[in-house]
Amino acid sequence: LGPRMIKEALFTYVRPEITHSPELLAVSDRAVQDLGLDPKETETEEFNQVFAGNKLLTWDEETKEGIYPWAQCYGGYQFGQWAGQLGDGRAISLFETTNPEGVRYEIQLKGAGRTPYSRFADGKAVLRSSIREFVVSEYLNAIGIPTTRALALTLARKSRVMRERMEPGAIVTRFAQSWVRLGTFDLPRMRGDRATLRKLADYTAESIYGGWDKLPSALTAGQDPSTTLPTSIPKLDVQGPAGSEENRYVRLYRAIVRANARTVAAWQAYGFMNGVLNTDNTSILGLSMDYGPFAFLDTFDPTYTPNHDDHMLRYSYRNQPTIIWWNLVRLGEALGELMGAADFVDDAVFVASGVTEAQADGLVKRAEGIIDRAGDEYKAVFMAHYKSLMTARLGLKQCKDGDFEELYSELLDFLEAHELDFHHAFRRLGYVRLEELETEQARRDVAGRFFRSGEAPRQEDASRERIAKWLDKWAARVREDWGSAGEEERMAAMAKTNPKFVPRSWVLDELIDRVEKKNERDVLKDIMKMNLSPFEEKWGGNEGEEERFCGDVPKYKGMMQCSCSS
Ligand code: AMP
Ligand code: MG
Ligand code: MG
Repeated sequence: LGPRMIKEALFTYVRPEITHSPELLAVSDRAVQDLGLDPKETETEEFNQVFAGNKLLTWDEETKEGIYPWAQCYGGYQFGQWAGQLGDGRAISLFETTNPEGVRYEIQLKGAGRTPYSRFADGKAVLRSSIREFVVSEYLNAIGIPTTRALALTLARKSRVMRERMEPGAIVTRFAQSWVRLGTFDLPRMRGDRATLRKLADYTAESIYGGWDKLPSALTAGQDPSTTLPTSIPKLDVQGPAGSEENRYVRLYRAIVRANARTVAAWQAYGFMNGVLNTDNTSILGLSMDYGPFAFLDTFDPTYTPNHDDHMLRYSYRNQPTIIWWNLVRLGEALGELMGAADFVDDAVFVASGVTEAQADGLVKRAEGIIDRAGDEYKAVFMAHYKSLMTARLGLKQCKDGDFEELYSELLDFLEAHELDFHHAFRRLGYVRLEELETEQARRDVAGRFFRSGEAPRQEDASRERIAKWLDKWAARVREDWGSAGEEERMAAMAKTNPKFVPRSWVLDELIDRVEKKNERDVLKDIMKMNLSPFEEKWGGNEGEEERFCGDVPKYKGMMQCSCSS
């Protein structure tokens, strides 16, 4: 298979390469459950062979019938520049399956060999990056953030992959309701391939979103989009279009915008960074996806980017909401002609050759207003979701006037000023009882818990005083929302919202080192237990080790960066 340019199509049939002596390293129990598999199946040799890419479950080799594996074609803007045709260079989809709840998933292997979209790379993935993707996919899902999933992690025992050095290769079996990305729309747009673009938009609405009727309803003149949101969120102060109704492609665009707004809000609330938010890594369903140099914050530093090559800090923590919007504007441009044609709600004028340049310009102009309005909706949905997550993380029931500035922003400000751990702050706050906060001295003592163990005594009075003051305000708000009898309930709610375990970069590094160099296997199981139930207090393994993985980040191992060579 040589590198290939694909015209008027968005996938190619291709089968995985044979993997000799594959070793199934880990399976996600949660994924097994969600796919409706029998856990016993995962112990069979057939399971091992299928997800090593050696056996095709849905294709009959003799009759040449069934479903043959495929790789998707897409384009993308990488670091803000149009990068041309990309595609699944090392991902091959095997088949679709529907779980007992009726949710359909596309199962795919990552690292199973070359495809027509591999360009000049090898189609392989190294063990290091495969472990990272396997773990983080299942973690984000466990804390309720939309993500592509991972079923299995397979070591390709005979394969050595050349990166900065020779490394063991691996395969991750992943699944998602769809692998279509914003970059999938960029490609036909940049080629002026209107027919494919329209087919793709229709497929996205009908098959991925489940039908046009599942999309947000059209806004009419003067209507506020908040009235069409499934969950009640505050008024958005966004006005529907004057005059004509929105057509169905506008509704599709708005659904995609909303889904991504919610996901990026959750990343911000939980301190997660993707690290390479190119349009080819941004999901049409708002799923977190394509895990390369991702990371969780350790200390709170909004300028931090986990991507070693991201010198402009384009993909830093604080830039994520802006960058996702930038990507969504590219999608708006791709859908521009379809969205701008307000007159054809059903079908008709838009055919591949039926629009003149001048007409097309007119349509795109009209689309600009639509994109602007979607931008307001994006901001509103983002803020509403971010606030509701932060409200829960702080153990409150509602976000009142002033909370955002005085509680949420001030918390982040002092975390940043004193380089305090983002995740520990929330988890440890959840252990604080209001009765511990009654005197100024007591509040200062409690403030000490936000520092690394052993470091609090060295902190100046001023920093403790600032945190103590915040704790006082927080306690007043908790009392207001819960009354005096709600302590146990409030603490339980916080423990369910603020994970104890976070797969930080240093934890993943140690895990990789132990699996790859020390040939340990149990450590993967132990970490997966914490990873799938991160809100627990204990996991029944080696307690010292569990506490260490959840404890202070070891000196010099915080805020690590990762390169893209995976
Ligand atoms: P990413 O930075 O992971 O989003 O990858 C960008 C593009 O490069 C995608 O189209 C990938 O499929 C492709 N790619 C990355 N690594 C490899 C590899 N080892 N072999 C083939 N294609 C790759
Ligand atoms: Mg990608
Ligand atoms: Mg990638």
